[in-house]
Amino acid sequence: MDMYKNIIDMHTHTDNSFDGHHSTVYMCEAACNKGLRAIAFTDHCEVDAFDASGERNVRQAFFEIAKAKSAFMGKLLVLNGIELGQPAYDIETAEKILASQKFDIVIGSVHNLRNQQDFYYIEDFSQIDVKSKLSEYFDELLTMLEWGNFDILAHLTYPFRYLYSRNNILVDINEYKPQVDEILRLTAEKDIALEINAAGLRQPINRLSPELETVKRFKELGGKLVSVGSDAHYAQHIAVGIKDAMSVAKEAGFDCVTLFQKRQPVEIPIE
Ligand SMILES: [Zn+2]
Ligand SMILES: [Zn+2]
Repeated sequence: MDMYKNIIDMHTHTDNSFDGHHSTVYMCEAACNKGLRAIAFTDHCEVDAFDASGERNVRQAFFEIAKAKSAFMGKLLVLNGIELGQPAYDIETAEKILASQKFDIVIGSVHNLRNQQDFYYIEDFSQIDVKSKLSEYFDELLTMLEWGNFDILAHLTYPFRYLYSRNNILVDINEYKPQVDEILRLTAEKDIALEINAAGLRQPINRLSPELETVKRFKELGGKLVSVGSDAHYAQHIAVGIKDAMSVAKEAGFDCVTLFQKRQPVEIPIE
């Protein structure tokens, strides 16, 4: 990590996420100890399963992050984010959630197809038509992008990690090139940041999401903003793989990674 000065992590989860483990303040202390300049907390909010407890969670997360923001002022830039899952499945609810607080960063994600379970919970893909599932997945990313009220497109190849860990299926993204190109083109056009998500480096697939060739293609198609995130669900995973993600951004031709404050992009030089 010491080859870069400006380490930032734009995708992390606290215990306000159902699958998070550490408090916001504990995560901030860990981030300071690791020498980060900025951290965004982006707790889960699955829009297609949003209810009263989801609403409480969003509020709780927001206020804990707001407190941490002022407690760590001058030491660590703390950004108040949210990871919206499946916002396009219920746009009205998504807009209501976004209007409820002044977020710095909104991440847009698709973890599951409509009325289906999160890819994470699928234990066996062998009886599933993978090609059509993935094609549906990419179509849902496109639908989400057409809505477009978010700042960062999360983990573009999210299902790939589970196809690999469950059934040893290694997907070639080029088989989906027309759809992926359309996704990258729309992301660029809407000035949404393409996330380079490092969680896969801690998983059997051992790859970034997406990989270098896709980040390069994004640049070719006019992409201007990239963001880097560990997707840490534990304090010890904060910034893990960020260096690799920054190297890929640099190699793809980006001089900066992006953070968002009050939903406005701020470019941070990769150096
Ligand atoms: Zn996610
Ligand atoms: Zn996440």
